[in-house]
Amino acid sequence: MIKRVLIYVVIIFFVLPVFAQKGAITAKDMKEYVYFLASDSLKGRKPGTAEMNVAAKYILDHFKAAGLKPMADNGFQYFDIVTDVTLGPDNKLSVDGYDATFRKEFIPLAFSSGGEVNASVVFAGYGFDLDLDSLKWNDYSGLDVKGKWVMIFRADPELDKSDSKFIAFSDARSKVLTAKDKGAAGVLLVTPRGLDKDDKLMAVVVENNEVTSGIPVINIRHAVADRILAAKGISADSLENLITAKKKPNSFETGTLVNGGVDVAQKHAKTANVVGLLEGSDKILKDEYLVIGGHYDHLGFGGPNSGSRVPDTNAIHNGADDNASGTAMVMELAKNLSSQRAKLKRSIIFVAFSGEEMGLLGSKYFVNNPPVELKKIKAMFNFDMVGRFDKEKNSISVSGTGTSAEGDSILRVFEKGLPFTVTHSPDGYGPSDHASFYSSNIPVFFFTTGVHMDYHTPSDDAGKLDYNKEKQIGDFSSNLIADIDNLNKDLTFRESGKKEAAGRSGRRLKVTLGIMPDFAGSEKKGLRVDGVTKDGPASKGGMLKGDIIISVHGMKVENIYDYMARLNKLKSGMTVNVEVLRNGKVEILIIQL
Ligand SMILES: [Zn+2]
Repeated sequence: MIKRVLIYVVIIFFVLPVFAQKGAITAKDMKEYVYFLASDSLKGRKPGTAEMNVAAKYILDHFKAAGLKPMADNGFQYFDIVTDVTLGPDNKLSVDGYDATFRKEFIPLAFSSGGEVNASVVFAGYGFDLDLDSLKWNDYSGLDVKGKWVMIFRADPELDKSDSKFIAFSDARSKVLTAKDKGAAGVLLVTPRGLDKDDKLMAVVVENNEVTSGIPVINIRHAVADRILAAKGISADSLENLITAKKKPNSFETGTLVNGGVDVAQKHAKTANVVGLLEGSDKILKDEYLVIGGHYDHLGFGGPNSGSRVPDTNAIHNGADDNASGTAMVMELAKNLSSQRAKLKRSIIFVAFSGEEMGLLGSKYFVNNPPVELKKIKAMFNFDMVGRFDKEKNSISVSGTGTSAEGDSILRVFEKGLPFTVTHSPDGYGPSDHASFYSSNIPVFFFTTGVHMDYHTPSDDAGKLDYNKEKQIGDFSSNLIADIDNLNKDLTFRESGKKEAAGRSGRRLKVTLGIMPDFAGSEKKGLRVDGVTKDGPASKGGMLKGDIIISVHGMKVENIYDYMARLNKLKSGMTVNVEVLRNGKVEILIIQL
């Protein structure tokens, strides 16, 4: 990749400065910020890296220069993240004296606790204990698993049904929790052929979640499972066939001894939201706050499970539009609104969030540890991807307009005479940091110019942004925010759309997109969508009947089996990108699960 920064530095020395009014939002400043934040030298602004800290300091310096007061810990609101999981030398598994090969025949799960278990194995089917009106299934009835290994299949016995009632309970964490509740000492997970006919070992995936299972959890391949089952004269394959055909649990003591040890280490790192305060000028109302935010993190060098759409490419994901553009917007708004401070009644907190790409971690941390009482925050304005303006559409999108009684009408006042149109969308829950605030009953406004082909790829570069347009969006936003800041009466919060409590622990709901797939597999290059459920996640993300899904979250989809396996890797509450072929052209949809 070209070092654009150097070229740019040379250029600005030859461009005469444009004299603008003090505090005015300028395209020149926006451009300068984005070129710095999205330069190769910041290596994709991955939370936990030194380069991310450089970005944080850069933002704070500008906040201070704008006259903001640093909040939290001298301007940094620190929080812990898990950046990596490493497997140590003490991973082992032996079945009746046979030593299985680490990484070939078995692998611990990333969320497994460490430790050694030497005990006999109980086979417990799919590991469910469900007693609901709509679904009764107990793989544990009559079994005593206390202090023993429990061997179970992953997923569920209805892998051919995309609307199976089991799906909500079939993720590994839920099953391990059930086994632990029953007193199991460890869990051995077997991949059913229906999920992956090649029985590949599970990937060690960092979940950005420090919660470990409490007991060792090991994924074993069929060859190992069959050894455990040998004394009973049955194979894992035949057990899978039996249970799925009869739709009935089939569990038993195997009598086989397994000695297994798990050695995983989570790598932790610190990252920070950057937080600055602009104090309001009204004696009473300055005790109320608006929040203006945008995330400044991105995907680093990409890679599997990073959210990159080209996960096989190891390259700097500069994230110019996503979200150096929004960060620059927050910095410019800080400068601009600070210059009119005397006119502003309420106080404004400016935040650059970290960890957005890892699951809105920074904004969740902010609302859980707010620097001021949460109920004093009266509205939140989020800017995520505001630099790529589509000249043909000539519009920007503002979401959350239904989260306050007044949102739509106030927007309409400020839209008049703009050089672009503003699309309103009412929902408060969406694929960025405002969702955390909406979940806390705070009215939100989410500004974006939308997704494009460079989204979450190494080619989201600073040279592709329209800075003049971003300045215009900035002026519009500043006027709108100043007006809301000065309202005599607070905005009235309203629920608008689902309020997902994302990131809750315990039983995670398994995801569905809300589509009717083409089960016949008549499309050879992907999975054809034969129907879209009204108001489902896919429908909200813009999916249409006839679309052909070719990838889900950077993972290729060639058929319905791929599709199901991909969905199994996703979690409820995640934001995923789905590539579809529509009329022969590739389109990217952002879908909130
Ligand atoms: Zn992103």
